[in-house]
Amino acid sequence: MKTDILIVGSGVAGLYCALNLPEDKNIIVVTKNKARRSDSFLAQGGICVLRDEDDYDSFYEDTMKAGHYENNPDSVHIMIHSSQEVISDLESFGVRFEKNGKEFTYTREGAHSHPRILFHEDETGKEITSHLLDTAKTRENITIIENYTMVDLICKDGECHGIIGHNEDSEYSAIQADYTVLATGGIGGIFEHSTNYKHLTGDAIALALKYNIKLQHLDYIQIHPTTLYTEKEGNREFLISESVRGEGAILLNSKGERFVNELLPRDVVANAIFEEMKKEGSKHVWLSLSPIPESEIRTHFPNIYQKCLDEGYDITKEPIPVVPSQHYFMGGIDVDRYSKTSMDRLYAAGETACNGVHGRNRLASNSLLESLVFAKRAARHITDGYTPITTDEEIMIDKSKYINYKEEYKEAVLTAIEKERLSHE
Ligand SMILES: Cc1cc2nc3c(=O)[nH]c(=O)nc-3n(C[C@H](O)[C@H](O)[C@H](O)COP(=O)(O)OP(=O)(O)OC[C@H]3O[C@@H](n4cnc5c(N)ncnc54)[C@H](O)[C@@H]3O)c2cc1C
Repeated sequence: MKTDILIVGSGVAGLYCALNLPEDKNIIVVTKNKARRSDSFLAQGGICVLRDEDDYDSFYEDTMKAGHYENNPDSVHIMIHSSQEVISDLESFGVRFEKNGKEFTYTREGAHSHPRILFHEDETGKEITSHLLDTAKTRENITIIENYTMVDLICKDGECHGIIGHNEDSEYSAIQADYTVLATGGIGGIFEHSTNYKHLTGDAIALALKYNIKLQHLDYIQIHPTTLYTEKEGNREFLISESVRGEGAILLNSKGERFVNELLPRDVVANAIFEEMKKEGSKHVWLSLSPIPESEIRTHFPNIYQKCLDEGYDITKEPIPVVPSQHYFMGGIDVDRYSKTSMDRLYAAGETACNGVHGRNRLASNSLLESLVFAKRAARHITDGYTPITTDEEIMIDKSKYINYKEEYKEAVLTAIEKERLSHE
């Protein structure tokens, strides 16, 4: 197969990048699973936006403070200043955010000094991503290939010329492209407990390691403080959105006592929970939604309400057991302000990329925004500098190289994370 631009991943980053590329270019989007099975569909809480210029300093400071001031200030600035444009793009695709009349309703999550998060019930990610996907399906120049797994990059003379992958029948093929965008999401699939889909195993990170593509902050991994504790094994952990705490829910130990300010940054709250669990010798702590009116729980958090009910807990009447889990990857493939990697003709956007926006720790609801902003910048940069590859090449695929790729890639990523972690000790 040959295409102009190849995008690996059908989450918000991949789809929005595709939609911002010129309609006279052929674009292929491949995705490892069904197109709707991405973490983007799971995002519950919302998406940050700059409400007005008066909120700029506070939004900037909240992002930097949550990131322990290790953020890239330029990236933070770009993200905040591009936020209103992205929201109006999303509305033009039909995305609906909660409003009071014509005015947006804003919610708040941990470490935000002011409410500045737009939401759609507790399914903001689904609302955004399904509209992007539906729009992409109407574009004649965009082809979405499901159940196609990238296993390698085609690298020639320091340039990326596409990928090698296989379909669900393990038939291997090469897809050649003038430009390739990696939008493969997070790495939760390599951890035992994670809120991420299990098929998100950091494949792009493994390939970056293989080809010496620059990476950054591999050990900056966010643990979400509140996922529903369950004894069941094998599923991804169900997230109890931070906006639940933003609206007033409190954390309690086994004696029913509060032990932390619930609105501190995620890493601080997660550490406080781990400490409390250690002190008590317990496997979880409790989250009580009793300060939130029942009507608010049912309208703002209908899916969390239903999921907990399915698990045997009525959140309008009783606290639920919660435990921290792997949630988000702040590090990733190092990219510049246009989402370009250190390899020519190769871009990365979304959770797999690291442009430094989040520093050491991500501020809640900044990741959908960051993914969208920098995916659009990748699309613009590719468009502005477009030069086709003129050489014709035949790609020979040696399938035997990929027999154990899943284990090998997982091992490579985990080892690199550990090495980076040790280097900071
Ligand atoms: C439960 C949950 C709740 C969240 N809530 C929020 C929130 O409220 N606000 C917020 O801002 N963020 C939230 N996040 C984070 C946010 O959803 C993600 O960071 C963001 O959606 C990442 O988008 P993405 O496009 O980079 O990746 P994803 O949406 O994860 O998409 C990755 C894509 O890459 C594909 N892929 C992966 N590997 C391969 C391969 N080898 N070959 C082919 N395809 C591949 C996958 O199939 C998938 O299509 C949440 C995350 C989770 C898990």
